[in-house]
Amino acid sequence: MDAQALTRDALTAFAQANRQAFEAELRTLVEIPSVSNDPERAGDIRRCAEAAVDLFRRNGGEAVILETTGNPLVLGRFGEDPALPTVTVYNHLDVQPANEPEWTTAPFQMEIDGDTYKGRGTTDDKGPALAAFFGCLAARAAGVPLNIRFLWELEEEIGSPSFQGGLEKHRDLLGTDAIVVSDTVWITRGKPSTPAGLRGLKGFRLTLETAGHDLHSGVVGGAARNPLTELMSVVAAMVDGHTGKVKIPHFYRKVAKPSRKELKEWARSGFTVETFRKDHEIHSLRTDHPLKVMKRIWGKPTMEVHGVVGGYTGPGIKSAVPPRAEVKMSCRLVPDMDEASTFELIRNFVATHFPDVVVHEEHGLAPFKGHVTGPYAEAVKDAYAFAFGAPCCFTREGGSIGAVKTMEDVLGCEVYFLGLSLPSHGYHAPNENFDWEQASGGIAAFARYFQTVSGI
Ligand SMILES: [Zn+2]
Repeated sequence: MDAQALTRDALTAFAQANRQAFEAELRTLVEIPSVSNDPERAGDIRRCAEAAVDLFRRNGGEAVILETTGNPLVLGRFGEDPALPTVTVYNHLDVQPANEPEWTTAPFQMEIDGDTYKGRGTTDDKGPALAAFFGCLAARAAGVPLNIRFLWELEEEIGSPSFQGGLEKHRDLLGTDAIVVSDTVWITRGKPSTPAGLRGLKGFRLTLETAGHDLHSGVVGGAARNPLTELMSVVAAMVDGHTGKVKIPHFYRKVAKPSRKELKEWARSGFTVETFRKDHEIHSLRTDHPLKVMKRIWGKPTMEVHGVVGGYTGPGIKSAVPPRAEVKMSCRLVPDMDEASTFELIRNFVATHFPDVVVHEEHGLAPFKGHVTGPYAEAVKDAYAFAFGAPCCFTREGGSIGAVKTMEDVLGCEVYFLGLSLPSHGYHAPNENFDWEQASGGIAAFARYFQTVSGI
């Protein structure tokens, strides 16, 4: 194949000719249980990194394991010509545990059922990683003039605790013009979508102690303060339980409203409330209006209570006044909010109105705002349309991928998303799967993307 020959038909033929190889490589990776939250799987994490290095070397690339203070990173390389542009594809090879009783196949044995690949990690994120890899092989075979790198992480599922340190340590090896992440989920099959923003997070806890031990509510009740009841009024002063609206003054001050153009893209993204409810087994929502739901999960911050600790929790009641209580909370943040000033607002609000309630700071992640215009964004849109025959929408993700902001900050380049997973693939769920339609389309999309960005 030469670069002019990277037609859709040629890439379909390339994918077909490499289907067995794709399936064999996916099987190898899926059958290594690289569960990052289980210390007993440390050997499998290492084995997975070694298998990845072997994959690059067997296919004419170079690869090294980059050590961090935690799990290693794998850097694979095709091409090292300083005169050419360089693009880096990010994926992760660690997976969630798979102990749900609903699994109908052995999660760490890949089962091929027609066009469906079943097993933990097939869609999150080993299958997309390999689709990008085979797309790279197609582009290389066609002589696309581009240095292509792969950065594969092995602790994404536990919040990337050593990722920033690892990037800083190996920064010299990681210089790149742009990064493309393939670890996101479309809204629905047949309608490619790519997030142009991710929400961040700021966690905190409230505690209040008003006595040394449980008190008799008949003997002291009425005079004694009740820390559980008081913390409930603190929460009620901060957030409206029905609407979810945060009542702290200036909380929404930095929220960047989605543009009219963004809202239009959301509206044609294929999102439906019915599917959203079904996918997440939600009984009822705060609104059933699709655009309002999208605004709430992608474009607005939240304040949630995750847990309340204190008092008696056994059967029936125990008529005591508890001595202390705790509420565990967090806010999802949207661009252009930041963790520090959001926490400051919360702490000041509580200090002013409830002076003896203590606010404890927990971990946070900054929100991410991507680019929807410019040559790299155009290359993503073009790659999806070319490979899947449908225009792509820029949407957002309500969750956070810590690695994204870290790469942007440490490597100083723009980050884009070329995800291939579908809601039906079951991210983090039992019976996780991936399929050949998304894999072969992904191979074509990545080959096309590499060809386009080689000209930027
Ligand atoms: Zn993932």
